[in-house]
Amino acid sequence: MALIVQKFGGSSLATPEHIIRVANMIAATRNGGNMVAVVVSAMSGETDRLIGLAKALSLAPPEREYDALLATGEQVSAALMAIALESIGCPARSFNALQLPLRTDDSHTKARILQVETKLLLETLEAGIVPVVTGFQGINAAGEITTLGRGGSDTSAVALAMALKADLCEIYTDVDGVYTADPDICPRARHLDKITYEEMLELAGLGAKVLQIRSVELAQKYEVPLLVRSSFGGTRSTWIVKEEKDMESAVVNGITIDRSEAKMSIIGVPDRPGIAYRILSPLADAGINVDMIIQNVGSAGQTDFTFTLPKADLDKALPLVQQVAREIKAADVRTDDCIVKVSAVGIGMKNHPGVAARMFKALADENINIQMISTSEIRISCVIDSKYGELAVRTLHSAFGLDKPEKGK
Ligand code: ASP
Ligand code: MG
Repeated sequence: MALIVQKFGGSSLATPEHIIRVANMIAATRNGGNMVAVVVSAMSGETDRLIGLAKALSLAPPEREYDALLATGEQVSAALMAIALESIGCPARSFNALQLPLRTDDSHTKARILQVETKLLLETLEAGIVPVVTGFQGINAAGEITTLGRGGSDTSAVALAMALKADLCEIYTDVDGVYTADPDICPRARHLDKITYEEMLELAGLGAKVLQIRSVELAQKYEVPLLVRSSFGGTRSTWIVKEEKDMESAVVNGITIDRSEAKMSIIGVPDRPGIAYRILSPLADAGINVDMIIQNVGSAGQTDFTFTLPKADLDKALPLVQQVAREIKAADVRTDDCIVKVSAVGIGMKNHPGVAARMFKALADENINIQMISTSEIRISCVIDSKYGELAVRTLHSAFGLDKPEKGK
C-alpha cells in the first residue's frame, strides 16, 4: 500500500463538475489500495478575485487581514472537495492549517513552512478517510493565518508529503507535464518524461510556470519524488527526481524565456573599490532583487556597470541609482525594458564542454546580438532584444537537437 499526496490546482477545481471529476480520480486511487491525502488550491480565479476585493478597499491592506482573506479560497475548495468525495461514497474530511496545524514563520504573504503536524492526518488516513487539506495557508506562532505566496499550494503539498513520508507527491494541473520549451512559442517542443530537481529549479526560476519554485527546493531537499500530470485526461506525465547515475541525460533539456526583467546601465563609473557596493546596496535595502551583473574592464579609471532587475521594480530603482550616480559622478544612467533572457538548461552541461559556444553560434547565425551572459553549472543565459525572444527560443531548441520530428516525417 502506497501513501500518495495528490495536489489539485485551481483549474482542476474550476466548477462543481471539475470537482466531482477530480473526486472520482481521488476515489479511484484510494480504491486501488492506496492511502491518499489531498491538497487543494482555491478554485481558479478565486485568489485574484479576493485580491481585487481587498484592493478595492485599500491600496495597502494590512497584511494580516490580506492573508486572512486570501486563505478563504482554499477553505472553500477543501470543504467542497470533501463534500464531493462523500457524495460518491468516499469518506473524506477537510482540514485547514489551523486544525492540523501547519505552522509557518511570521512573514505574511510569503510565509515559510516550519512544521506540519501529522497526528490528525495519520489518524484520518488510518481510519480509511481521505484528508483534504487547504493549500497555500499556514498559521504563525501567534495563531494568525499566513499565506505562502502565489502558487504556494504546490509547496504545501510537498511539505505534507515530506511530513507524512509519502511515497509520492502528485501535482495535478492543466498541462501534462514539463516540456523542452513553451509549446505556444515553440511548436516543436517535446514532452519530458523525466527531469531532475536541479533542472526543474532552473526552469521554474526562469519563467516556466508549472510549479512554484519553493516546492521544488523542498522536494529536492527531502528527496520527495514529484509527478506532474494533468487532471484533464491523457496518460503523459513528468517525473521530477534526483539525478541518477545512469540517467541518460541530454546536454540541454530545456529552453526558457524570461520576459520579466529590465536592464540598467551606469555609464562612466569610477573604477575603484567599493563602487559596486555603493550602487547595489540601496537596491538591496529597498528589497529589489538584482539578477545578472556585468562590470566591464576599466580604462582610464572608468568603467560601465550593467545589471538586470525585475521590470516591476524599475520605477522604484531608477531614482535610487540616479542618486548614487550623482554622488559618484558617473556620466549617465540608462534603462532598457525591451529585453528578454533566454536560457538553455541541462544537467548534461556538467560534463560537456562547448555548450556556450554552440549557443552563441546559433544566436549569431540568426543575427541576434547578445547583450549580457550569465552561467551556472547547468545553465547558460543570454539577454537579448525582446523582439527576437521567440525566434531565439526556437533557434536554440533546434540547435540543441530538441525539436520533435515534424508531422508526417
Ligand atoms: N490560490 C493560491 C494562488 O492562486 C495558491 C495556489 O493556487 O497555489 O496563488
Ligand atoms: Mg499553480
